[in-house]
Amino acid sequence: MEITDLSFKEIGQVVITVSNGLDKHYTYRFRKASENKPVFISVKKMTLFDGATYDYLGVYSPDTRRVHLTKASVFADGSEQVKGVRWAIDKIAKPTTLPGHYTITKELVCRRCGHLLTTPESIASGYGPECEKKKTISRNSEKGNSSEK
Ligand SMILES: [Zn+2]
Repeated sequence: MEITDLSFKEIGQVVITVSNGLDKHYTYRFRKASENKPVFISVKKMTLFDGATYDYLGVYSPDTRRVHLTKASVFADGSEQVKGVRWAIDKIAKPTTLPGHYTITKELVCRRCGHLLTTPESIASGYGPECEKKKTISRNSEKGNSSEK
């Protein structure tokens, strides 16, 4: 399968799912709150109530394309989750045929609420239609928003 380069401009708003095509898959969210903030990686965890929560994994450096763990990381270096995201970044950086049934899928999500972006306009702006409106409003009122997760 073809993997598009993350181009790492969109890295602040992307969700990547790595699957071995059989019994395992991990979904990683790359989130960058603003231009000068680091990119945080977290791993999706399904809950009983079919909502998703994320466990913090570490920080991603777009310049070096490296993943660093920090004290707050809930995963150990060498864990499958950490190995998985490093593997995926490596594969995305140098597009190649993936072994076996492995797949890497990439989805863009809203920078504000994390919902999937579906329209070309949303993907270009990085915000869903609702958040695009709120973003304009909060910018006008200069209050920012504390509701951002
Ligand atoms: Zn949104």
